[in-house]
Amino acid sequence: MSQTEVVIAGGGFAGLTCAKALAEKGVPVVLLERKKEAGQGMHTTGIIVGECAEEFSVPEHLTRKVTDVRLYAPSLRHVDLHAPDYFFLTTDTPGLMKYFSDEAVKAGASVLYDLPYRSGAQAGERINVNEGMFSCRFLIGADGPRSKVADDFKLGQNTQFLLGAEAEYEGLPLADMRLSAEENANAFYCFLDQKLAYGYLGWVIPSVGVTQVGLAQRMPAKPDIDAFVERMKGVFDFSNAKVVARRGGLIPCGGLVKPFYRDNVILLGDSAGIVSPLTAGGIHTALHYGKVLGETIAHYVNHGGEHPAEVMARIYPRFWLKQGLRKIYEHAAPNWALDFAITNPVFNYAASNVFFRKKKLK
Ligand SMILES: Cc1cc2nc3c(=O)[nH]c(=O)nc-3n(C[C@H](O)[C@H](O)[C@H](O)COP(=O)(O)OP(=O)(O)OC[C@H]3O[C@@H](n4cnc5c(N)ncnc54)[C@H](O)[C@@H]3O)c2cc1C
Repeated sequence: MSQTEVVIAGGGFAGLTCAKALAEKGVPVVLLERKKEAGQGMHTTGIIVGECAEEFSVPEHLTRKVTDVRLYAPSLRHVDLHAPDYFFLTTDTPGLMKYFSDEAVKAGASVLYDLPYRSGAQAGERINVNEGMFSCRFLIGADGPRSKVADDFKLGQNTQFLLGAEAEYEGLPLADMRLSAEENANAFYCFLDQKLAYGYLGWVIPSVGVTQVGLAQRMPAKPDIDAFVERMKGVFDFSNAKVVARRGGLIPCGGLVKPFYRDNVILLGDSAGIVSPLTAGGIHTALHYGKVLGETIAHYVNHGGEHPAEVMARIYPRFWLKQGLRKIYEHAAPNWALDFAITNPVFNYAASNVFFRKKKLK
């Protein structure tokens, strides 16, 4: 049996930044990831908000800066939204994941691929992982929206989801062909449509060397990417476009799970449900709270003090307002109302707030 201080289940954004933060403070940490290598089989679109890019510097060649949002109503009328100084980064997401993995390894974390977390059980003060393969003091569940760690330790589980589907295209010119060259901005194209993308939206975005086309629906509705692409053929020129990759997955949208910890077993990232219920953005919260949890455990292990789970209980986001707004959007915004609202200044102000307001994470 291998003894370590912390075992992390899951090597996504959350697990890798947590492992790096622990290793940087000299705490022995083993991360178990079921995929064969970093960046394999990504499910995310990988858009990073400006404030995340400011907190975590990522290599420039893995990103592309997008400054505007063009928001379409179901009728395909649109409005352009812009905020001075705000930007998004679209990313080469597999490349980004390799970067975070390399950073964790460089800091001294033991990152083990092709080795899933299979089981965990309390053994006195310690926790046995994978039938005694590892013994640790802290176990972190960073194993995504359907967490096995949560299941094994009777922690809260995500129950509400969006389901996203996306195709990556080469040769898709990113311009609304109904408009002139001057009218086409460096934009993130978003499509509101409660029939195709109930409870969320569809998107067409410029990424690193490709264009990403996708949509998400509030489950149990399922996204129909082919129907969305058919609709998009009225806006973009698909005649020379070729699909080079497909991806998709679950996005928790019900807020923080309860309970998110028991003794020294703590959930993080999507496992904990810390994804914005409104924007479905979870990368920044995964990276930020991964780092904070790693630093907090390291402080506790090295100096004692407040238990890390109690610290996280104070600072994990609850998203109460965003959950309320999500419910309003789901139930009180049919397509005809969205068509009507798209040119309304109050609606545009609210939409700009959703896209551009800087989120302060504790
Ligand atoms: C289609 C889609 C598009 C999205 N687009 C965006 C976006 O543009 N911007 C944004 O901010 N957010 C987006 N999100 C949300 C974002 O991807 C997640 O919130 C983020 O990836 C959460 O990171 P995480 O590390 O918690 O979980 P994950 O990224 O899910 O990582 C969990 C890891 O755990 C591993 N794992 C699972 N089970 C085990 C096990 N038993 N043992 C070992 N390893 C295991 C998985 O292989 C995975 O590597 C999107 C999500 C989806 C599905």
